[in-house]
Amino acid sequence: MANYTPMMQQYLKIKSQQKDAFLFFRLGDFYEMFFEDALTASKELEITLTSRDGGADERIPMCGVPYHSAENYIKQLVEKGYKVAICEQVEDPKQAKGVVKREVVQMITPGTVMEGSMLDEKENNYIASLSKFEDGTYTVSYNDLTTGENSVALVADGFDAAIGELYSRPVKEVVVSSDFPAEQQEMLKERLGYTVSYQDETTIEEAFVDLVADVHQDKLKIGFGRLLQYIQQTQKRTLDHLQPVKVIELKQYMTLDMYSKRNLELLETLRKGGKSGSLLSIVDQTITSMGARMLKKWMERPLLSKNAIDTRHSQVEGFLHQFLERETLREQLTSVYDLERLAGRVAYGNVNARDLIQLRNSLRKIPEILETLREFTHPSIEELYHSIDPLHELKELLEASIADDPPMTIKEGGLIRDGFHDQLDEYRDASKNGKQWIAELEQKERKATGIKSLKVGYNRVFGYYIEVTKANLRLLPEGMYERKQTLTNAERFITPELKEKESIILEAQEKSVDLEYELFLEVRDQVKTYVQKLQYLADQISRIDVLQGFAQTAETNSYVRPTYKEDTRTVDIKQGRHPVVEKVLKGDTFVPNDIYMNDETDVLLITGPNMSGKSTYMRQLALTAILGQMGSFVPCDSANLPIFDQIFTRIGAADDLVSGQSTFMVEMLEANHALAHATENSMILLDEIGRGTSTYDGMALAQAIVEHIHEHIRAKTLFSTHYHELTSLEGELERLKNVHVRAEEYEGNVVFLHQIKEGPADESYGIHVAKLADLPKPLITRATELLDQLEGAYSSAEAAASAEEEQLSLFIEEESPKARKAERSASQFEQHIQNLNLLEMTPMDAMNELYQLQKKM
Ligand code: ADP
Repeated sequence: MANYTPMMQQYLKIKSQQKDAFLFFRLGDFYEMFFEDALTASKELEITLTSRDGGADERIPMCGVPYHSAENYIKQLVEKGYKVAICEQVEDPKQAKGVVKREVVQMITPGTVMEGSMLDEKENNYIASLSKFEDGTYTVSYNDLTTGENSVALVADGFDAAIGELYSRPVKEVVVSSDFPAEQQEMLKERLGYTVSYQDETTIEEAFVDLVADVHQDKLKIGFGRLLQYIQQTQKRTLDHLQPVKVIELKQYMTLDMYSKRNLELLETLRKGGKSGSLLSIVDQTITSMGARMLKKWMERPLLSKNAIDTRHSQVEGFLHQFLERETLREQLTSVYDLERLAGRVAYGNVNARDLIQLRNSLRKIPEILETLREFTHPSIEELYHSIDPLHELKELLEASIADDPPMTIKEGGLIRDGFHDQLDEYRDASKNGKQWIAELEQKERKATGIKSLKVGYNRVFGYYIEVTKANLRLLPEGMYERKQTLTNAERFITPELKEKESIILEAQEKSVDLEYELFLEVRDQVKTYVQKLQYLADQISRIDVLQGFAQTAETNSYVRPTYKEDTRTVDIKQGRHPVVEKVLKGDTFVPNDIYMNDETDVLLITGPNMSGKSTYMRQLALTAILGQMGSFVPCDSANLPIFDQIFTRIGAADDLVSGQSTFMVEMLEANHALAHATENSMILLDEIGRGTSTYDGMALAQAIVEHIHEHIRAKTLFSTHYHELTSLEGELERLKNVHVRAEEYEGNVVFLHQIKEGPADESYGIHVAKLADLPKPLITRATELLDQLEGAYSSAEAAASAEEEQLSLFIEEESPKARKAERSASQFEQHIQNLNLLEMTPMDAMNELYQLQKKM
């Protein structure tokens, strides 16, 4: 260090406190980065890497971005999950003795960005903190700096549940203590892609104690304190817009664990990760971005209270029946700005006059919206109507004070409306009169001197002047005109009168700009007193937006209002549909299906060929339950539902291969999660469980899981399987019912009807799929023969028995003794065919296999 120049020493000292962030070190008009930062940033930002002499033997790697375009670069880094520390010169270089003083003035991190261009307006930008306590409980705290929203939840059942909670919101960054378990940190970073930050301090300082007035548990305070400390330290500015912390009562909401949220593709699809094709994309008919954000929150937290659900449904009904009024309402919502974020910015203190104009324009719309709401006749909408305070006074204040077309800056005048303030009007008059006088001066002087080309002009150095070309100088009377500046062809003069007017104008202008600034700050402070009311208004408008959107969706997609009975667990859906698949199918029509499970049915065992619609049927139930409990209508002819407290899913998907876990392991993790947490009020979907391992293991496991659920949990469970043998369980487990997806042979081919029927499927359809692919007849015949042989070798009874034997060695991936015996007796050729999993193959795979076999014949 000793050899480095003083500036580099300063850099290194500051950098040593900002190890996990890029240090943007201000040097003149640039932010420079050095050493490792420079190497990484030059790659990430595709900017040139140079080097600089820093006093030591080796040159120091360096790269930089211009100060004025830094925002874009910062944005790129933050979007990639990095943090950026902005280090500015904090004293005037002219005054500085030695190296200019520099300090980190702000940290920009993925969870704390405020700048508009870095934010997705349809999404909250949360930063969260996760705290672990000795008794195994966790707290999860959230903050959205853009809106000031704070909340905290206590999660009693371990890390998985805490992650499930975290996963319920669009979180970018998670703050933990420095001794947070390494494995869990790894999970947060690698598997979930969060930026992880550290903070050990958890005290809530005096200035913020009001925020936690409603929080009565120490753990929650500690959890929130950690987050708050981190925010204070990164933001280094006032945080008086933060709202009181809401305690999230997890028991108010349906629990959707992380796996289910992903598997059910609520917010985004698994494969593409995009929004289109998700449940959200189908039901999002919101108009405003705050409505869109609220909808997401609702989808992530379906309700458990029948009353609360009924209220939302009644409101949707209210909006649904009046199409014309709804159209008007939708139209009016388009001109409401993001009140929620505006309120956040007002509170944060960084609004300019344009923001206030947006606020004013939005407030102008509210009375119109109220008018429209009044035209809805449903009592539930009347309630909504009465809950809205249009903030008339605030609107009046903004109408009276802020000019119509103000500039972005707040220090250059043009902000305040004429007539708002007497003194300001006087200054403006003075300045205007002076300008008027000067405008007239040109004519006057031309007349007086007879110089037609005489001009009156203004420049910043000399102020107002009279310009006369050299050729005309002789016409100018002596004495009155004082020479100020000589140009090649002309001379510029001033007169005492001109200077006097000039100083009146300039003084008035300066005073009026200063006064405007003061007045603006006053108005802004006044607006600030409305922050809470504004937030409430924003909330109500978002709510209206979401609910009208539900009505819109219900109408366009023919959804109906579900009914809930608290004292029964009967599921009775008539002609239910899958909300997303029915849209995707476009031309081909979706085949609706009933789902019926009375009080005494806990498990539906679904059999049927691959691609026949089993998993669609299962998902359809979960999505219908979620839609209903979040307040939306549902895709069917009628639905009678229990309120589900949790939904668990194990639905086959290739996504986890990426993260290096074997499919089987993922299956077991997810199944285990469900078994550990489900109650009799939960829903469990298990799709083809066990197929990640060898046949007998898988089947045994599947059966054991069904039995366990049936005996010990009694959650409503849909279980699809290609282990046909399991259908015999209906005889043993009284609350299990077989259903199957119907497929028919038509002219020797199999046709999927996608219809769910009672009872087990009668056959395996793999060979029919091969037929569909037009494989050569002799091959099909041979395959059928082989199938008969195989079926002969393992009657279903035997298979079931073997499954029982296998339960003891569930996790050992080994072929069963019976299977080994069978294999020994089969020729290699047959064995090869036997090992083919026809149900898993696409027709193309089958073709390829057969082609290979044919070559060997
Ligand atoms: P499985 O789980 O039995 O393999 P899927 O549920 O994945 O089958 O369905 C396969 C395809 O069949 C779906 O992508 C969809 O196109 C179609 N499908 C499923 N259910 C229906 C239905 N009820 N009506 C029309 N098409 C359907």
